[in-house]
Amino acid sequence: MRESGAPVVAGIDIGGTTTQVVLCDEELTVVDRAAGATPARSGGRAMIAAALDLLSTVRARTPGRLTAVGVGAAGVVDAASGHVLVASDSFTDWAGFPVAAALRAALGVPAFLDNDVNAFLRGEIACGAAVGERDVLGMTLGTGVGGALWTGGALHTGAHGAAGEIGHVPGFGDLPCTCGGRGHLETLASARSVRARYGERTGRELTAREVAEAALAGDADARSVYAAAGAGIARAVVMTAGLMDIGTVVIGGGVSGAWPLLEPLILEPLAAEPPISGHPVKLLPAALGADAVPLGAAARARHELTTR
Ligand SMILES: [Zn+2]
Repeated sequence: MRESGAPVVAGIDIGGTTTQVVLCDEELTVVDRAAGATPARSGGRAMIAAALDLLSTVRARTPGRLTAVGVGAAGVVDAASGHVLVASDSFTDWAGFPVAAALRAALGVPAFLDNDVNAFLRGEIACGAAVGERDVLGMTLGTGVGGALWTGGALHTGAHGAAGEIGHVPGFGDLPCTCGGRGHLETLASARSVRARYGERTGRELTAREVAEAALAGDADARSVYAAAGAGIARAVVMTAGLMDIGTVVIGGGVSGAWPLLEPLILEPLAAEPPISGHPVKLLPAALGADAVPLGAAARARHELTTR
């Protein structure tokens, strides 16, 4: 490991299948990166060991003095203590794991943990689609629907670290959700739901991307599925804008890859319900792709270093 050179910050995204590590300079420009499989079934220790291996690989070939590490991980996390609080079924022995402490012990530098959707939003605000914005709702339309809130220029975490989770509030129909609830936005706007809703209508099994392509090619069922997703997203934006007076929404995740299809399907119902503030909400597609989470995690680490 070369400890000489300019200061660098590491950002790590521990996802259900892939762990991604980026090494950034102080301007959050990526100077090196590595990715590998997440051993999600082997427990927290193995997951951290896998992330440390990837970090060792990039540090061995890229000079720089590591000053801090940030991690974004799925689930509910305690961002202050750096523990995972609640993890999905796809992770073994992850809930309760002291992620930040384990990294701090292994690397000897400050380490921080954020929920992955919170990290996504931090990333897009630090160096992506919403640079400099002060009041933002972030949404990720991936396997599930995630949400995060940025208010007054800082992440709003709430009483239990779950603020902004607009994907799991009822009022979006009556379909059963993966979380056990009913009528959540996730039942309309996640990749899994787009696939399922299209399958129910047609008996055909397509991926969310293929449903989007079918919609653009004139398939009425595919278009209806995306229209329901767009209307649901618009409703979520209207509610959040009314409650929090956000100025901007950033939307990422796989389903947002069909932006030319999705954008008008959100904007139309959104225009029909203007916020009481009189200021229309700005709708932006995410700009950083898969880098948003690790860069947001690195941005958190950089922020903590400068405010200590
Ligand atoms: Zn739900």
